Amino acid sequence: MKLVLFCLLAGVFPGWSETRGATFAPIALYTQFQQAPPEGVLQALQDEVEWIMAPIGLRFEWRDLGRTGGHEVSAELAVVAFKGRCDVAGLMTHSRFEGALGWTHVSDGQILPFTDVSCDRVRDFVQAGLMAIRAEDREEKYGRALGRVLAHELYHIFANTMRHGSMGVAKESYNVQDLLTDDFQFQAKESRMLQTSRPKPAAESTAGSM
Ligand SMILES: [Zn+2]
Repeated sequence: MKLVLFCLLAGVFPGWSETRGATFAPIALYTQFQQAPPEGVLQALQDEVEWIMAPIGLRFEWRDLGRTGGHEVSAELAVVAFKGRCDVAGLMTHSRFEGALGWTHVSDGQILPFTDVSCDRVRDFVQAGLMAIRAEDREEKYGRALGRVLAHELYHIFANTMRHGSMGVAKESYNVQDLLTDDFQFQAKESRMLQTSRPKPAAESTAGSM
């Protein structure tokens, strides 16, 4: 049985900025893009995931799935597939929404470390907002939005839960404002879950075996 978790529409949140002393060993994030993203989008995406996760103590090593030798070993990892076109070309003034922005794979009730993010759907959803800002800022804002969707999916994997929070990055549905606002964070409850509900490390997982 294979299901997917979804995330989409509405709400506001209070910020959460408590920091924690200890940090975990870096988690390997293997990424695969259907089409190579512009550098500005990729950088903003990675920066946002790190910005959201750093206060919780989670650190990441970004690896290109297509360039791994198959010999890297990580205590923890996730594989992220970015679907569609991850750039800001061809924006229109009407935001559209069709289906989930991101989803994490589940098999027999177990959350798997495999996540998909739809670049096309995220762009369709926020494009009216992107049109309203300066052209030179759009890649950064779009990449940041992708980073927030990915952070949400990583929460499912690394808090090992299908549940959602009431607010913040872990809430079930996002609105355009959540994706484009200056600051979007996890709430304290979900942050604690990320610190304490870690899945058992996969033994000897290598990229070549996936
Ligand atoms: Zn979700």
